[in-house]
Amino acid sequence: MTRFAELPLAQRLSIVRSGTAYLAQRLDGIADDDFREPSALPDWTRAHLIAHLGYNATALGRLLDWAETGVETPMYSSAEGRATEIAEGATLEPETLRHEFRRTARIFDERLSAATESVWSAQVRTAQGRLVRADEVLWMRSREVWIHAVDLADGARFEDFPDTVLDSLLTDITDVWHRRGDGAGVLLAADGRAAIPVQPETAVTTTVSGPLATVVRWAAGRGAGDIHIDGPQTSPPLWL
Ligand code: ZN
Repeated sequence: MTRFAELPLAQRLSIVRSGTAYLAQRLDGIADDDFREPSALPDWTRAHLIAHLGYNATALGRLLDWAETGVETPMYSSAEGRATEIAEGATLEPETLRHEFRRTARIFDERLSAATESVWSAQVRTAQGRLVRADEVLWMRSREVWIHAVDLADGARFEDFPDTVLDSLLTDITDVWHRRGDGAGVLLAADGRAAIPVQPETAVTTTVSGPLATVVRWAAGRGAGDIHIDGPQTSPPLWL
């Protein structure tokens, strides 16, 4: 079972980059008129989501600033500040939103290329309040670009994700559930992978099975599709 954090740095960088390229490609396929259409996320249009992705790159860059200088620079000033920024960003023209996504992603990528071992290993705090090694930004950004590509609701699919991303998502999601004590009785059985009991000390009451991409999509709260659920737990616990 692949854990993202255990992959070599070059491979982790490559997952961020391929996800960014995948998302940029999806973005180019969305007509200007369709930017105001709903995304797959509650209350957000595609324009909100694209604005958020740009601000997210900048916010993760602030964690790298923190790691580099030791001066506390949080991702966002506050949850309200983050929400206001996204609401305002969503009013920008589609051309500007596309441009900002690419611009902020490029700056973030330059930061990743330049980061040294002392930056990666420094401790920073995420917007959720978790204390993490700075190299966690690589996983945080990977999750954002790959999953939000699907959230654009314009044809991106979990089936397009590299297996490493799917495997890493599965371990990440089940780790979070396990830590929180959620998902007791749930067994995730993706084809070709060892079945994962979310809380191994409890008896299995629900088995969720299907192709890896389908199981991960369900676990990430992005829909059941053609998954097979045998038992009472038909919707996944929250993840993020
Ligand atoms: Zn996000």
